Amino acid sequence: FLEGKRALVTGSTSGIGLAIARALAAEGAEVVLNGFGDAGEIAKLCAELGATHSGADLTDVAQIEAMMADSGGIDILVNNAGLQHVAPLEDFPVAKWDTIVALNLTAAFHTTRLAVPHMKAKGWGRIINTASAHSKVASPFKSAYNAAKHGLDGFTKTIALELAADGITANCISPGYVWTPLVENQIPDTMKARGLTRDQVINDVLLVKQATKKFVQPEEIGALAVFLCRTEAQNVTGANWSVDGGWTAE
Ligand code: NAD
Repeated sequence: FLEGKRALVTGSTSGIGLAIARALAAEGAEVVLNGFGDAGEIAKLCAELGATHSGADLTDVAQIEAMMADSGGIDILVNNAGLQHVAPLEDFPVAKWDTIVALNLTAAFHTTRLAVPHMKAKGWGRIINTASAHSKVASPFKSAYNAAKHGLDGFTKTIALELAADGITANCISPGYVWTPLVENQIPDTMKARGLTRDQVINDVLLVKQATKKFVQPEEIGALAVFLCRTEAQNVTGANWSVDGGWTAE
């Protein structure tokens, strides 16, 4: 049902973004991928999905502007690229703070402001922002990430109100722990920050608050993104959808 719609999914060479890109492409959307990775792997993904790819670094405004200009009009914008860093506040590298806020929050402002004129002209648009359970609640040692994701929730609500009369919806999807490289890569730092073993980090930190005791699968996020693009979801806007195994219910 998405034939004739162009979707840009940021951070879609891996993990959740790739699952969202696959789900939108399966419904007929023309997909623009974005993110880093091996050139051969990315070429394979483009062939699989009939997609194009932008390697723009979204911490750089000039590269975002070039990506948006090259992509053509975007009907479905998925702001998904994100980065995590786990460290106590006093040791938190200043450069990491800046990068995380730039990628997880500010990039969405830039892509959205540049995508909206086309959506308004069409009288239809979907903006889907991958936030996190950490857009609703906090955990220690993730100050930059939690600040950026709470900010993304506030940004999303604001644009939902501003764009509501133009046929454009804006929502957050907030996963708990999804088994992707982003989660796998934070295990060693969490072991160090908390003095725990790998199994203790998985069972006593990562899954401790997920009542289902299961990691979310990326495909589950893709399915929700597809629903948010449907006509039936035209009145769903300004919402922050938890897919977190019950974590934030407590
Ligand atoms: P991932 O590490 O698998 O993928 C991240 C993607 O972002 C990759 O395609 C990477 O190349 C891209 N990227 C990284 N830096 C970039 C930059 N500067 N410019 C452009 N692209 C860049 O991560 P993931 O787990 O799939 O996470 C995707 C989103 O979901 C993030 O916003 C993350 O915060 C959020 N999230 C993840 C989880 C989880 O448990 N995995 C939970 C909640 C929220």
